[in-house]
Amino acid sequence: RVKNGSKGAAAFFDTSMEREALARMKIEQSLRLAILEKRFCCAFQPKVDIRTQEITGVEALVRLRDDEGVIQAPSTFINLATELGLIDELTHLVLAEIVKSIDLINETFGPDTTISMNVAAKQAGNPEFMRPFAEALEATGFPARFMIEVTEDAFVTKTHFQDEILPIFRKLGVKISIDDFGIGYSSLSALADITADEIKIDRSFITDIHKRPRSQGILRAIESLSEALGMTVIAEGLESFEELAYLQAATKIRYAQGYYFSKPTFLEDLKLAPPRASEARASLASRPAQENRPTYSRAGGYR
Ligand code: C2E
Ligand code: MG
Ligand code: MG
Ligand code: MG
Repeated sequence: RVKNGSKGAAAFFDTSMEREALARMKIEQSLRLAILEKRFCCAFQPKVDIRTQEITGVEALVRLRDDEGVIQAPSTFINLATELGLIDELTHLVLAEIVKSIDLINETFGPDTTISMNVAAKQAGNPEFMRPFAEALEATGFPARFMIEVTEDAFVTKTHFQDEILPIFRKLGVKISIDDFGIGYSSLSALADITADEIKIDRSFITDIHKRPRSQGILRAIESLSEALGMTVIAEGLESFEELAYLQAATKIRYAQGYYFSKPTFLEDLKLAPPRASEARASLASRPAQENRPTYSRAGGYR
C-alpha cells in the first residue's frame, strides 16, 4: 500500500513509523531507568493440586512499574529487555524480590511450596549468565525451593544448558520446568534427552479442553510421555470449572494453574484479602474464582 500509494499514504507511513520509533525509545528509556531504580515487582500465581486443592508451588511473574506509576505486563518489555541485554539484570532483580519477600511468600502460600521463576531460553543457554545465577540461587540459602521455568527452545539444540547448567542445578536441588509445552519446536527425540522435573502444558491446549477432541488427544499423548519420562504435568491457563472438571474426570493430570484459581496477584493485595480454606473449598465446588481473589487452600490451612 505504501509503495503504490499517494504521497498522503507515504506521509502517513512516515509519521506512524516515527511514532513507533518514539514509543520504542520511550519504553527503552523507561526500562533502563526502571532497572536503575529497581522498579520491578512480582505478581505471584499459585500452582494447585487439583485433587486436594492445596497450593504446591507459586510462580513469580515480573511486572514493571513505569515512570507514571502504571503497572506494565512482561509482554511490553521482556523481549526488549532481552534485545537490549538487560534481561540478566532483570532476572537478578526478580530473584532479589523473591528473597526479600520470602517470609510473606511462606505466610501466604506455605513454607514448602516450590517457587518458580521464568528464565528466557536465550539466558538458559548462556553459561555466563547461568553460572552466577546458580550461585545466586545457592546464596539464598534455600536453592531447593526454586524451580526454573524455561521454554522448549532451550532444549532443542544441544546447548550449555543441558551439559553444564543442568548438573549444577541438580546438585543444588533446583528444579526445572518446561514452560509453554506443545507450541515450541522440540521433537520427541529431543525430549527424551531432557531431564526436567515438570512439563507445563501450554494454555492453548487447556482452553475449552472439554469441547476439543484434538486437544484432548494431545493431552493424552503428553500425559503418557511425561509418565514415561518421570516428569510432573501441570496445566496452565485453566480458567473455567468445565476445564477443571474435564482434567479431573478424564486425565491423570494432578496440577493446574490459571485464573480459575487465582490471577497473578501482588503479595500486599493477598495480605489484605487472605484466602480462607473453607471458603476455598465451597467456591471450588460451586463458582468460578473472583478476580484477584484466591480460592484455593494452602497446605495446612489458614489460622
Ligand atoms: P508464562 O511463564 O507462560 O506465564 C503465564 C502467563 O499467562 C502469565 O502472563 C500469566 O499471567 C498468564 N496466565 C496465567 N493464568 C492464566 C489464565 O488462566 N488465562 C490467561 N489468559 N492467562 C493466564 P504474564 O504475567 O503477562 O507473563 C507473560 C510471560 O512473560 C510469561 O509467560 C513469561 O514467559 C514471561 N515472564 C514473566 N515474568 C518473567 C521473568 O521474570 N523473566 C522472564 N524472562 N520472563 C518472564
Ligand atoms: Mg512460566
Ligand atoms: Mg507458560
Ligand atoms: Mg506463556
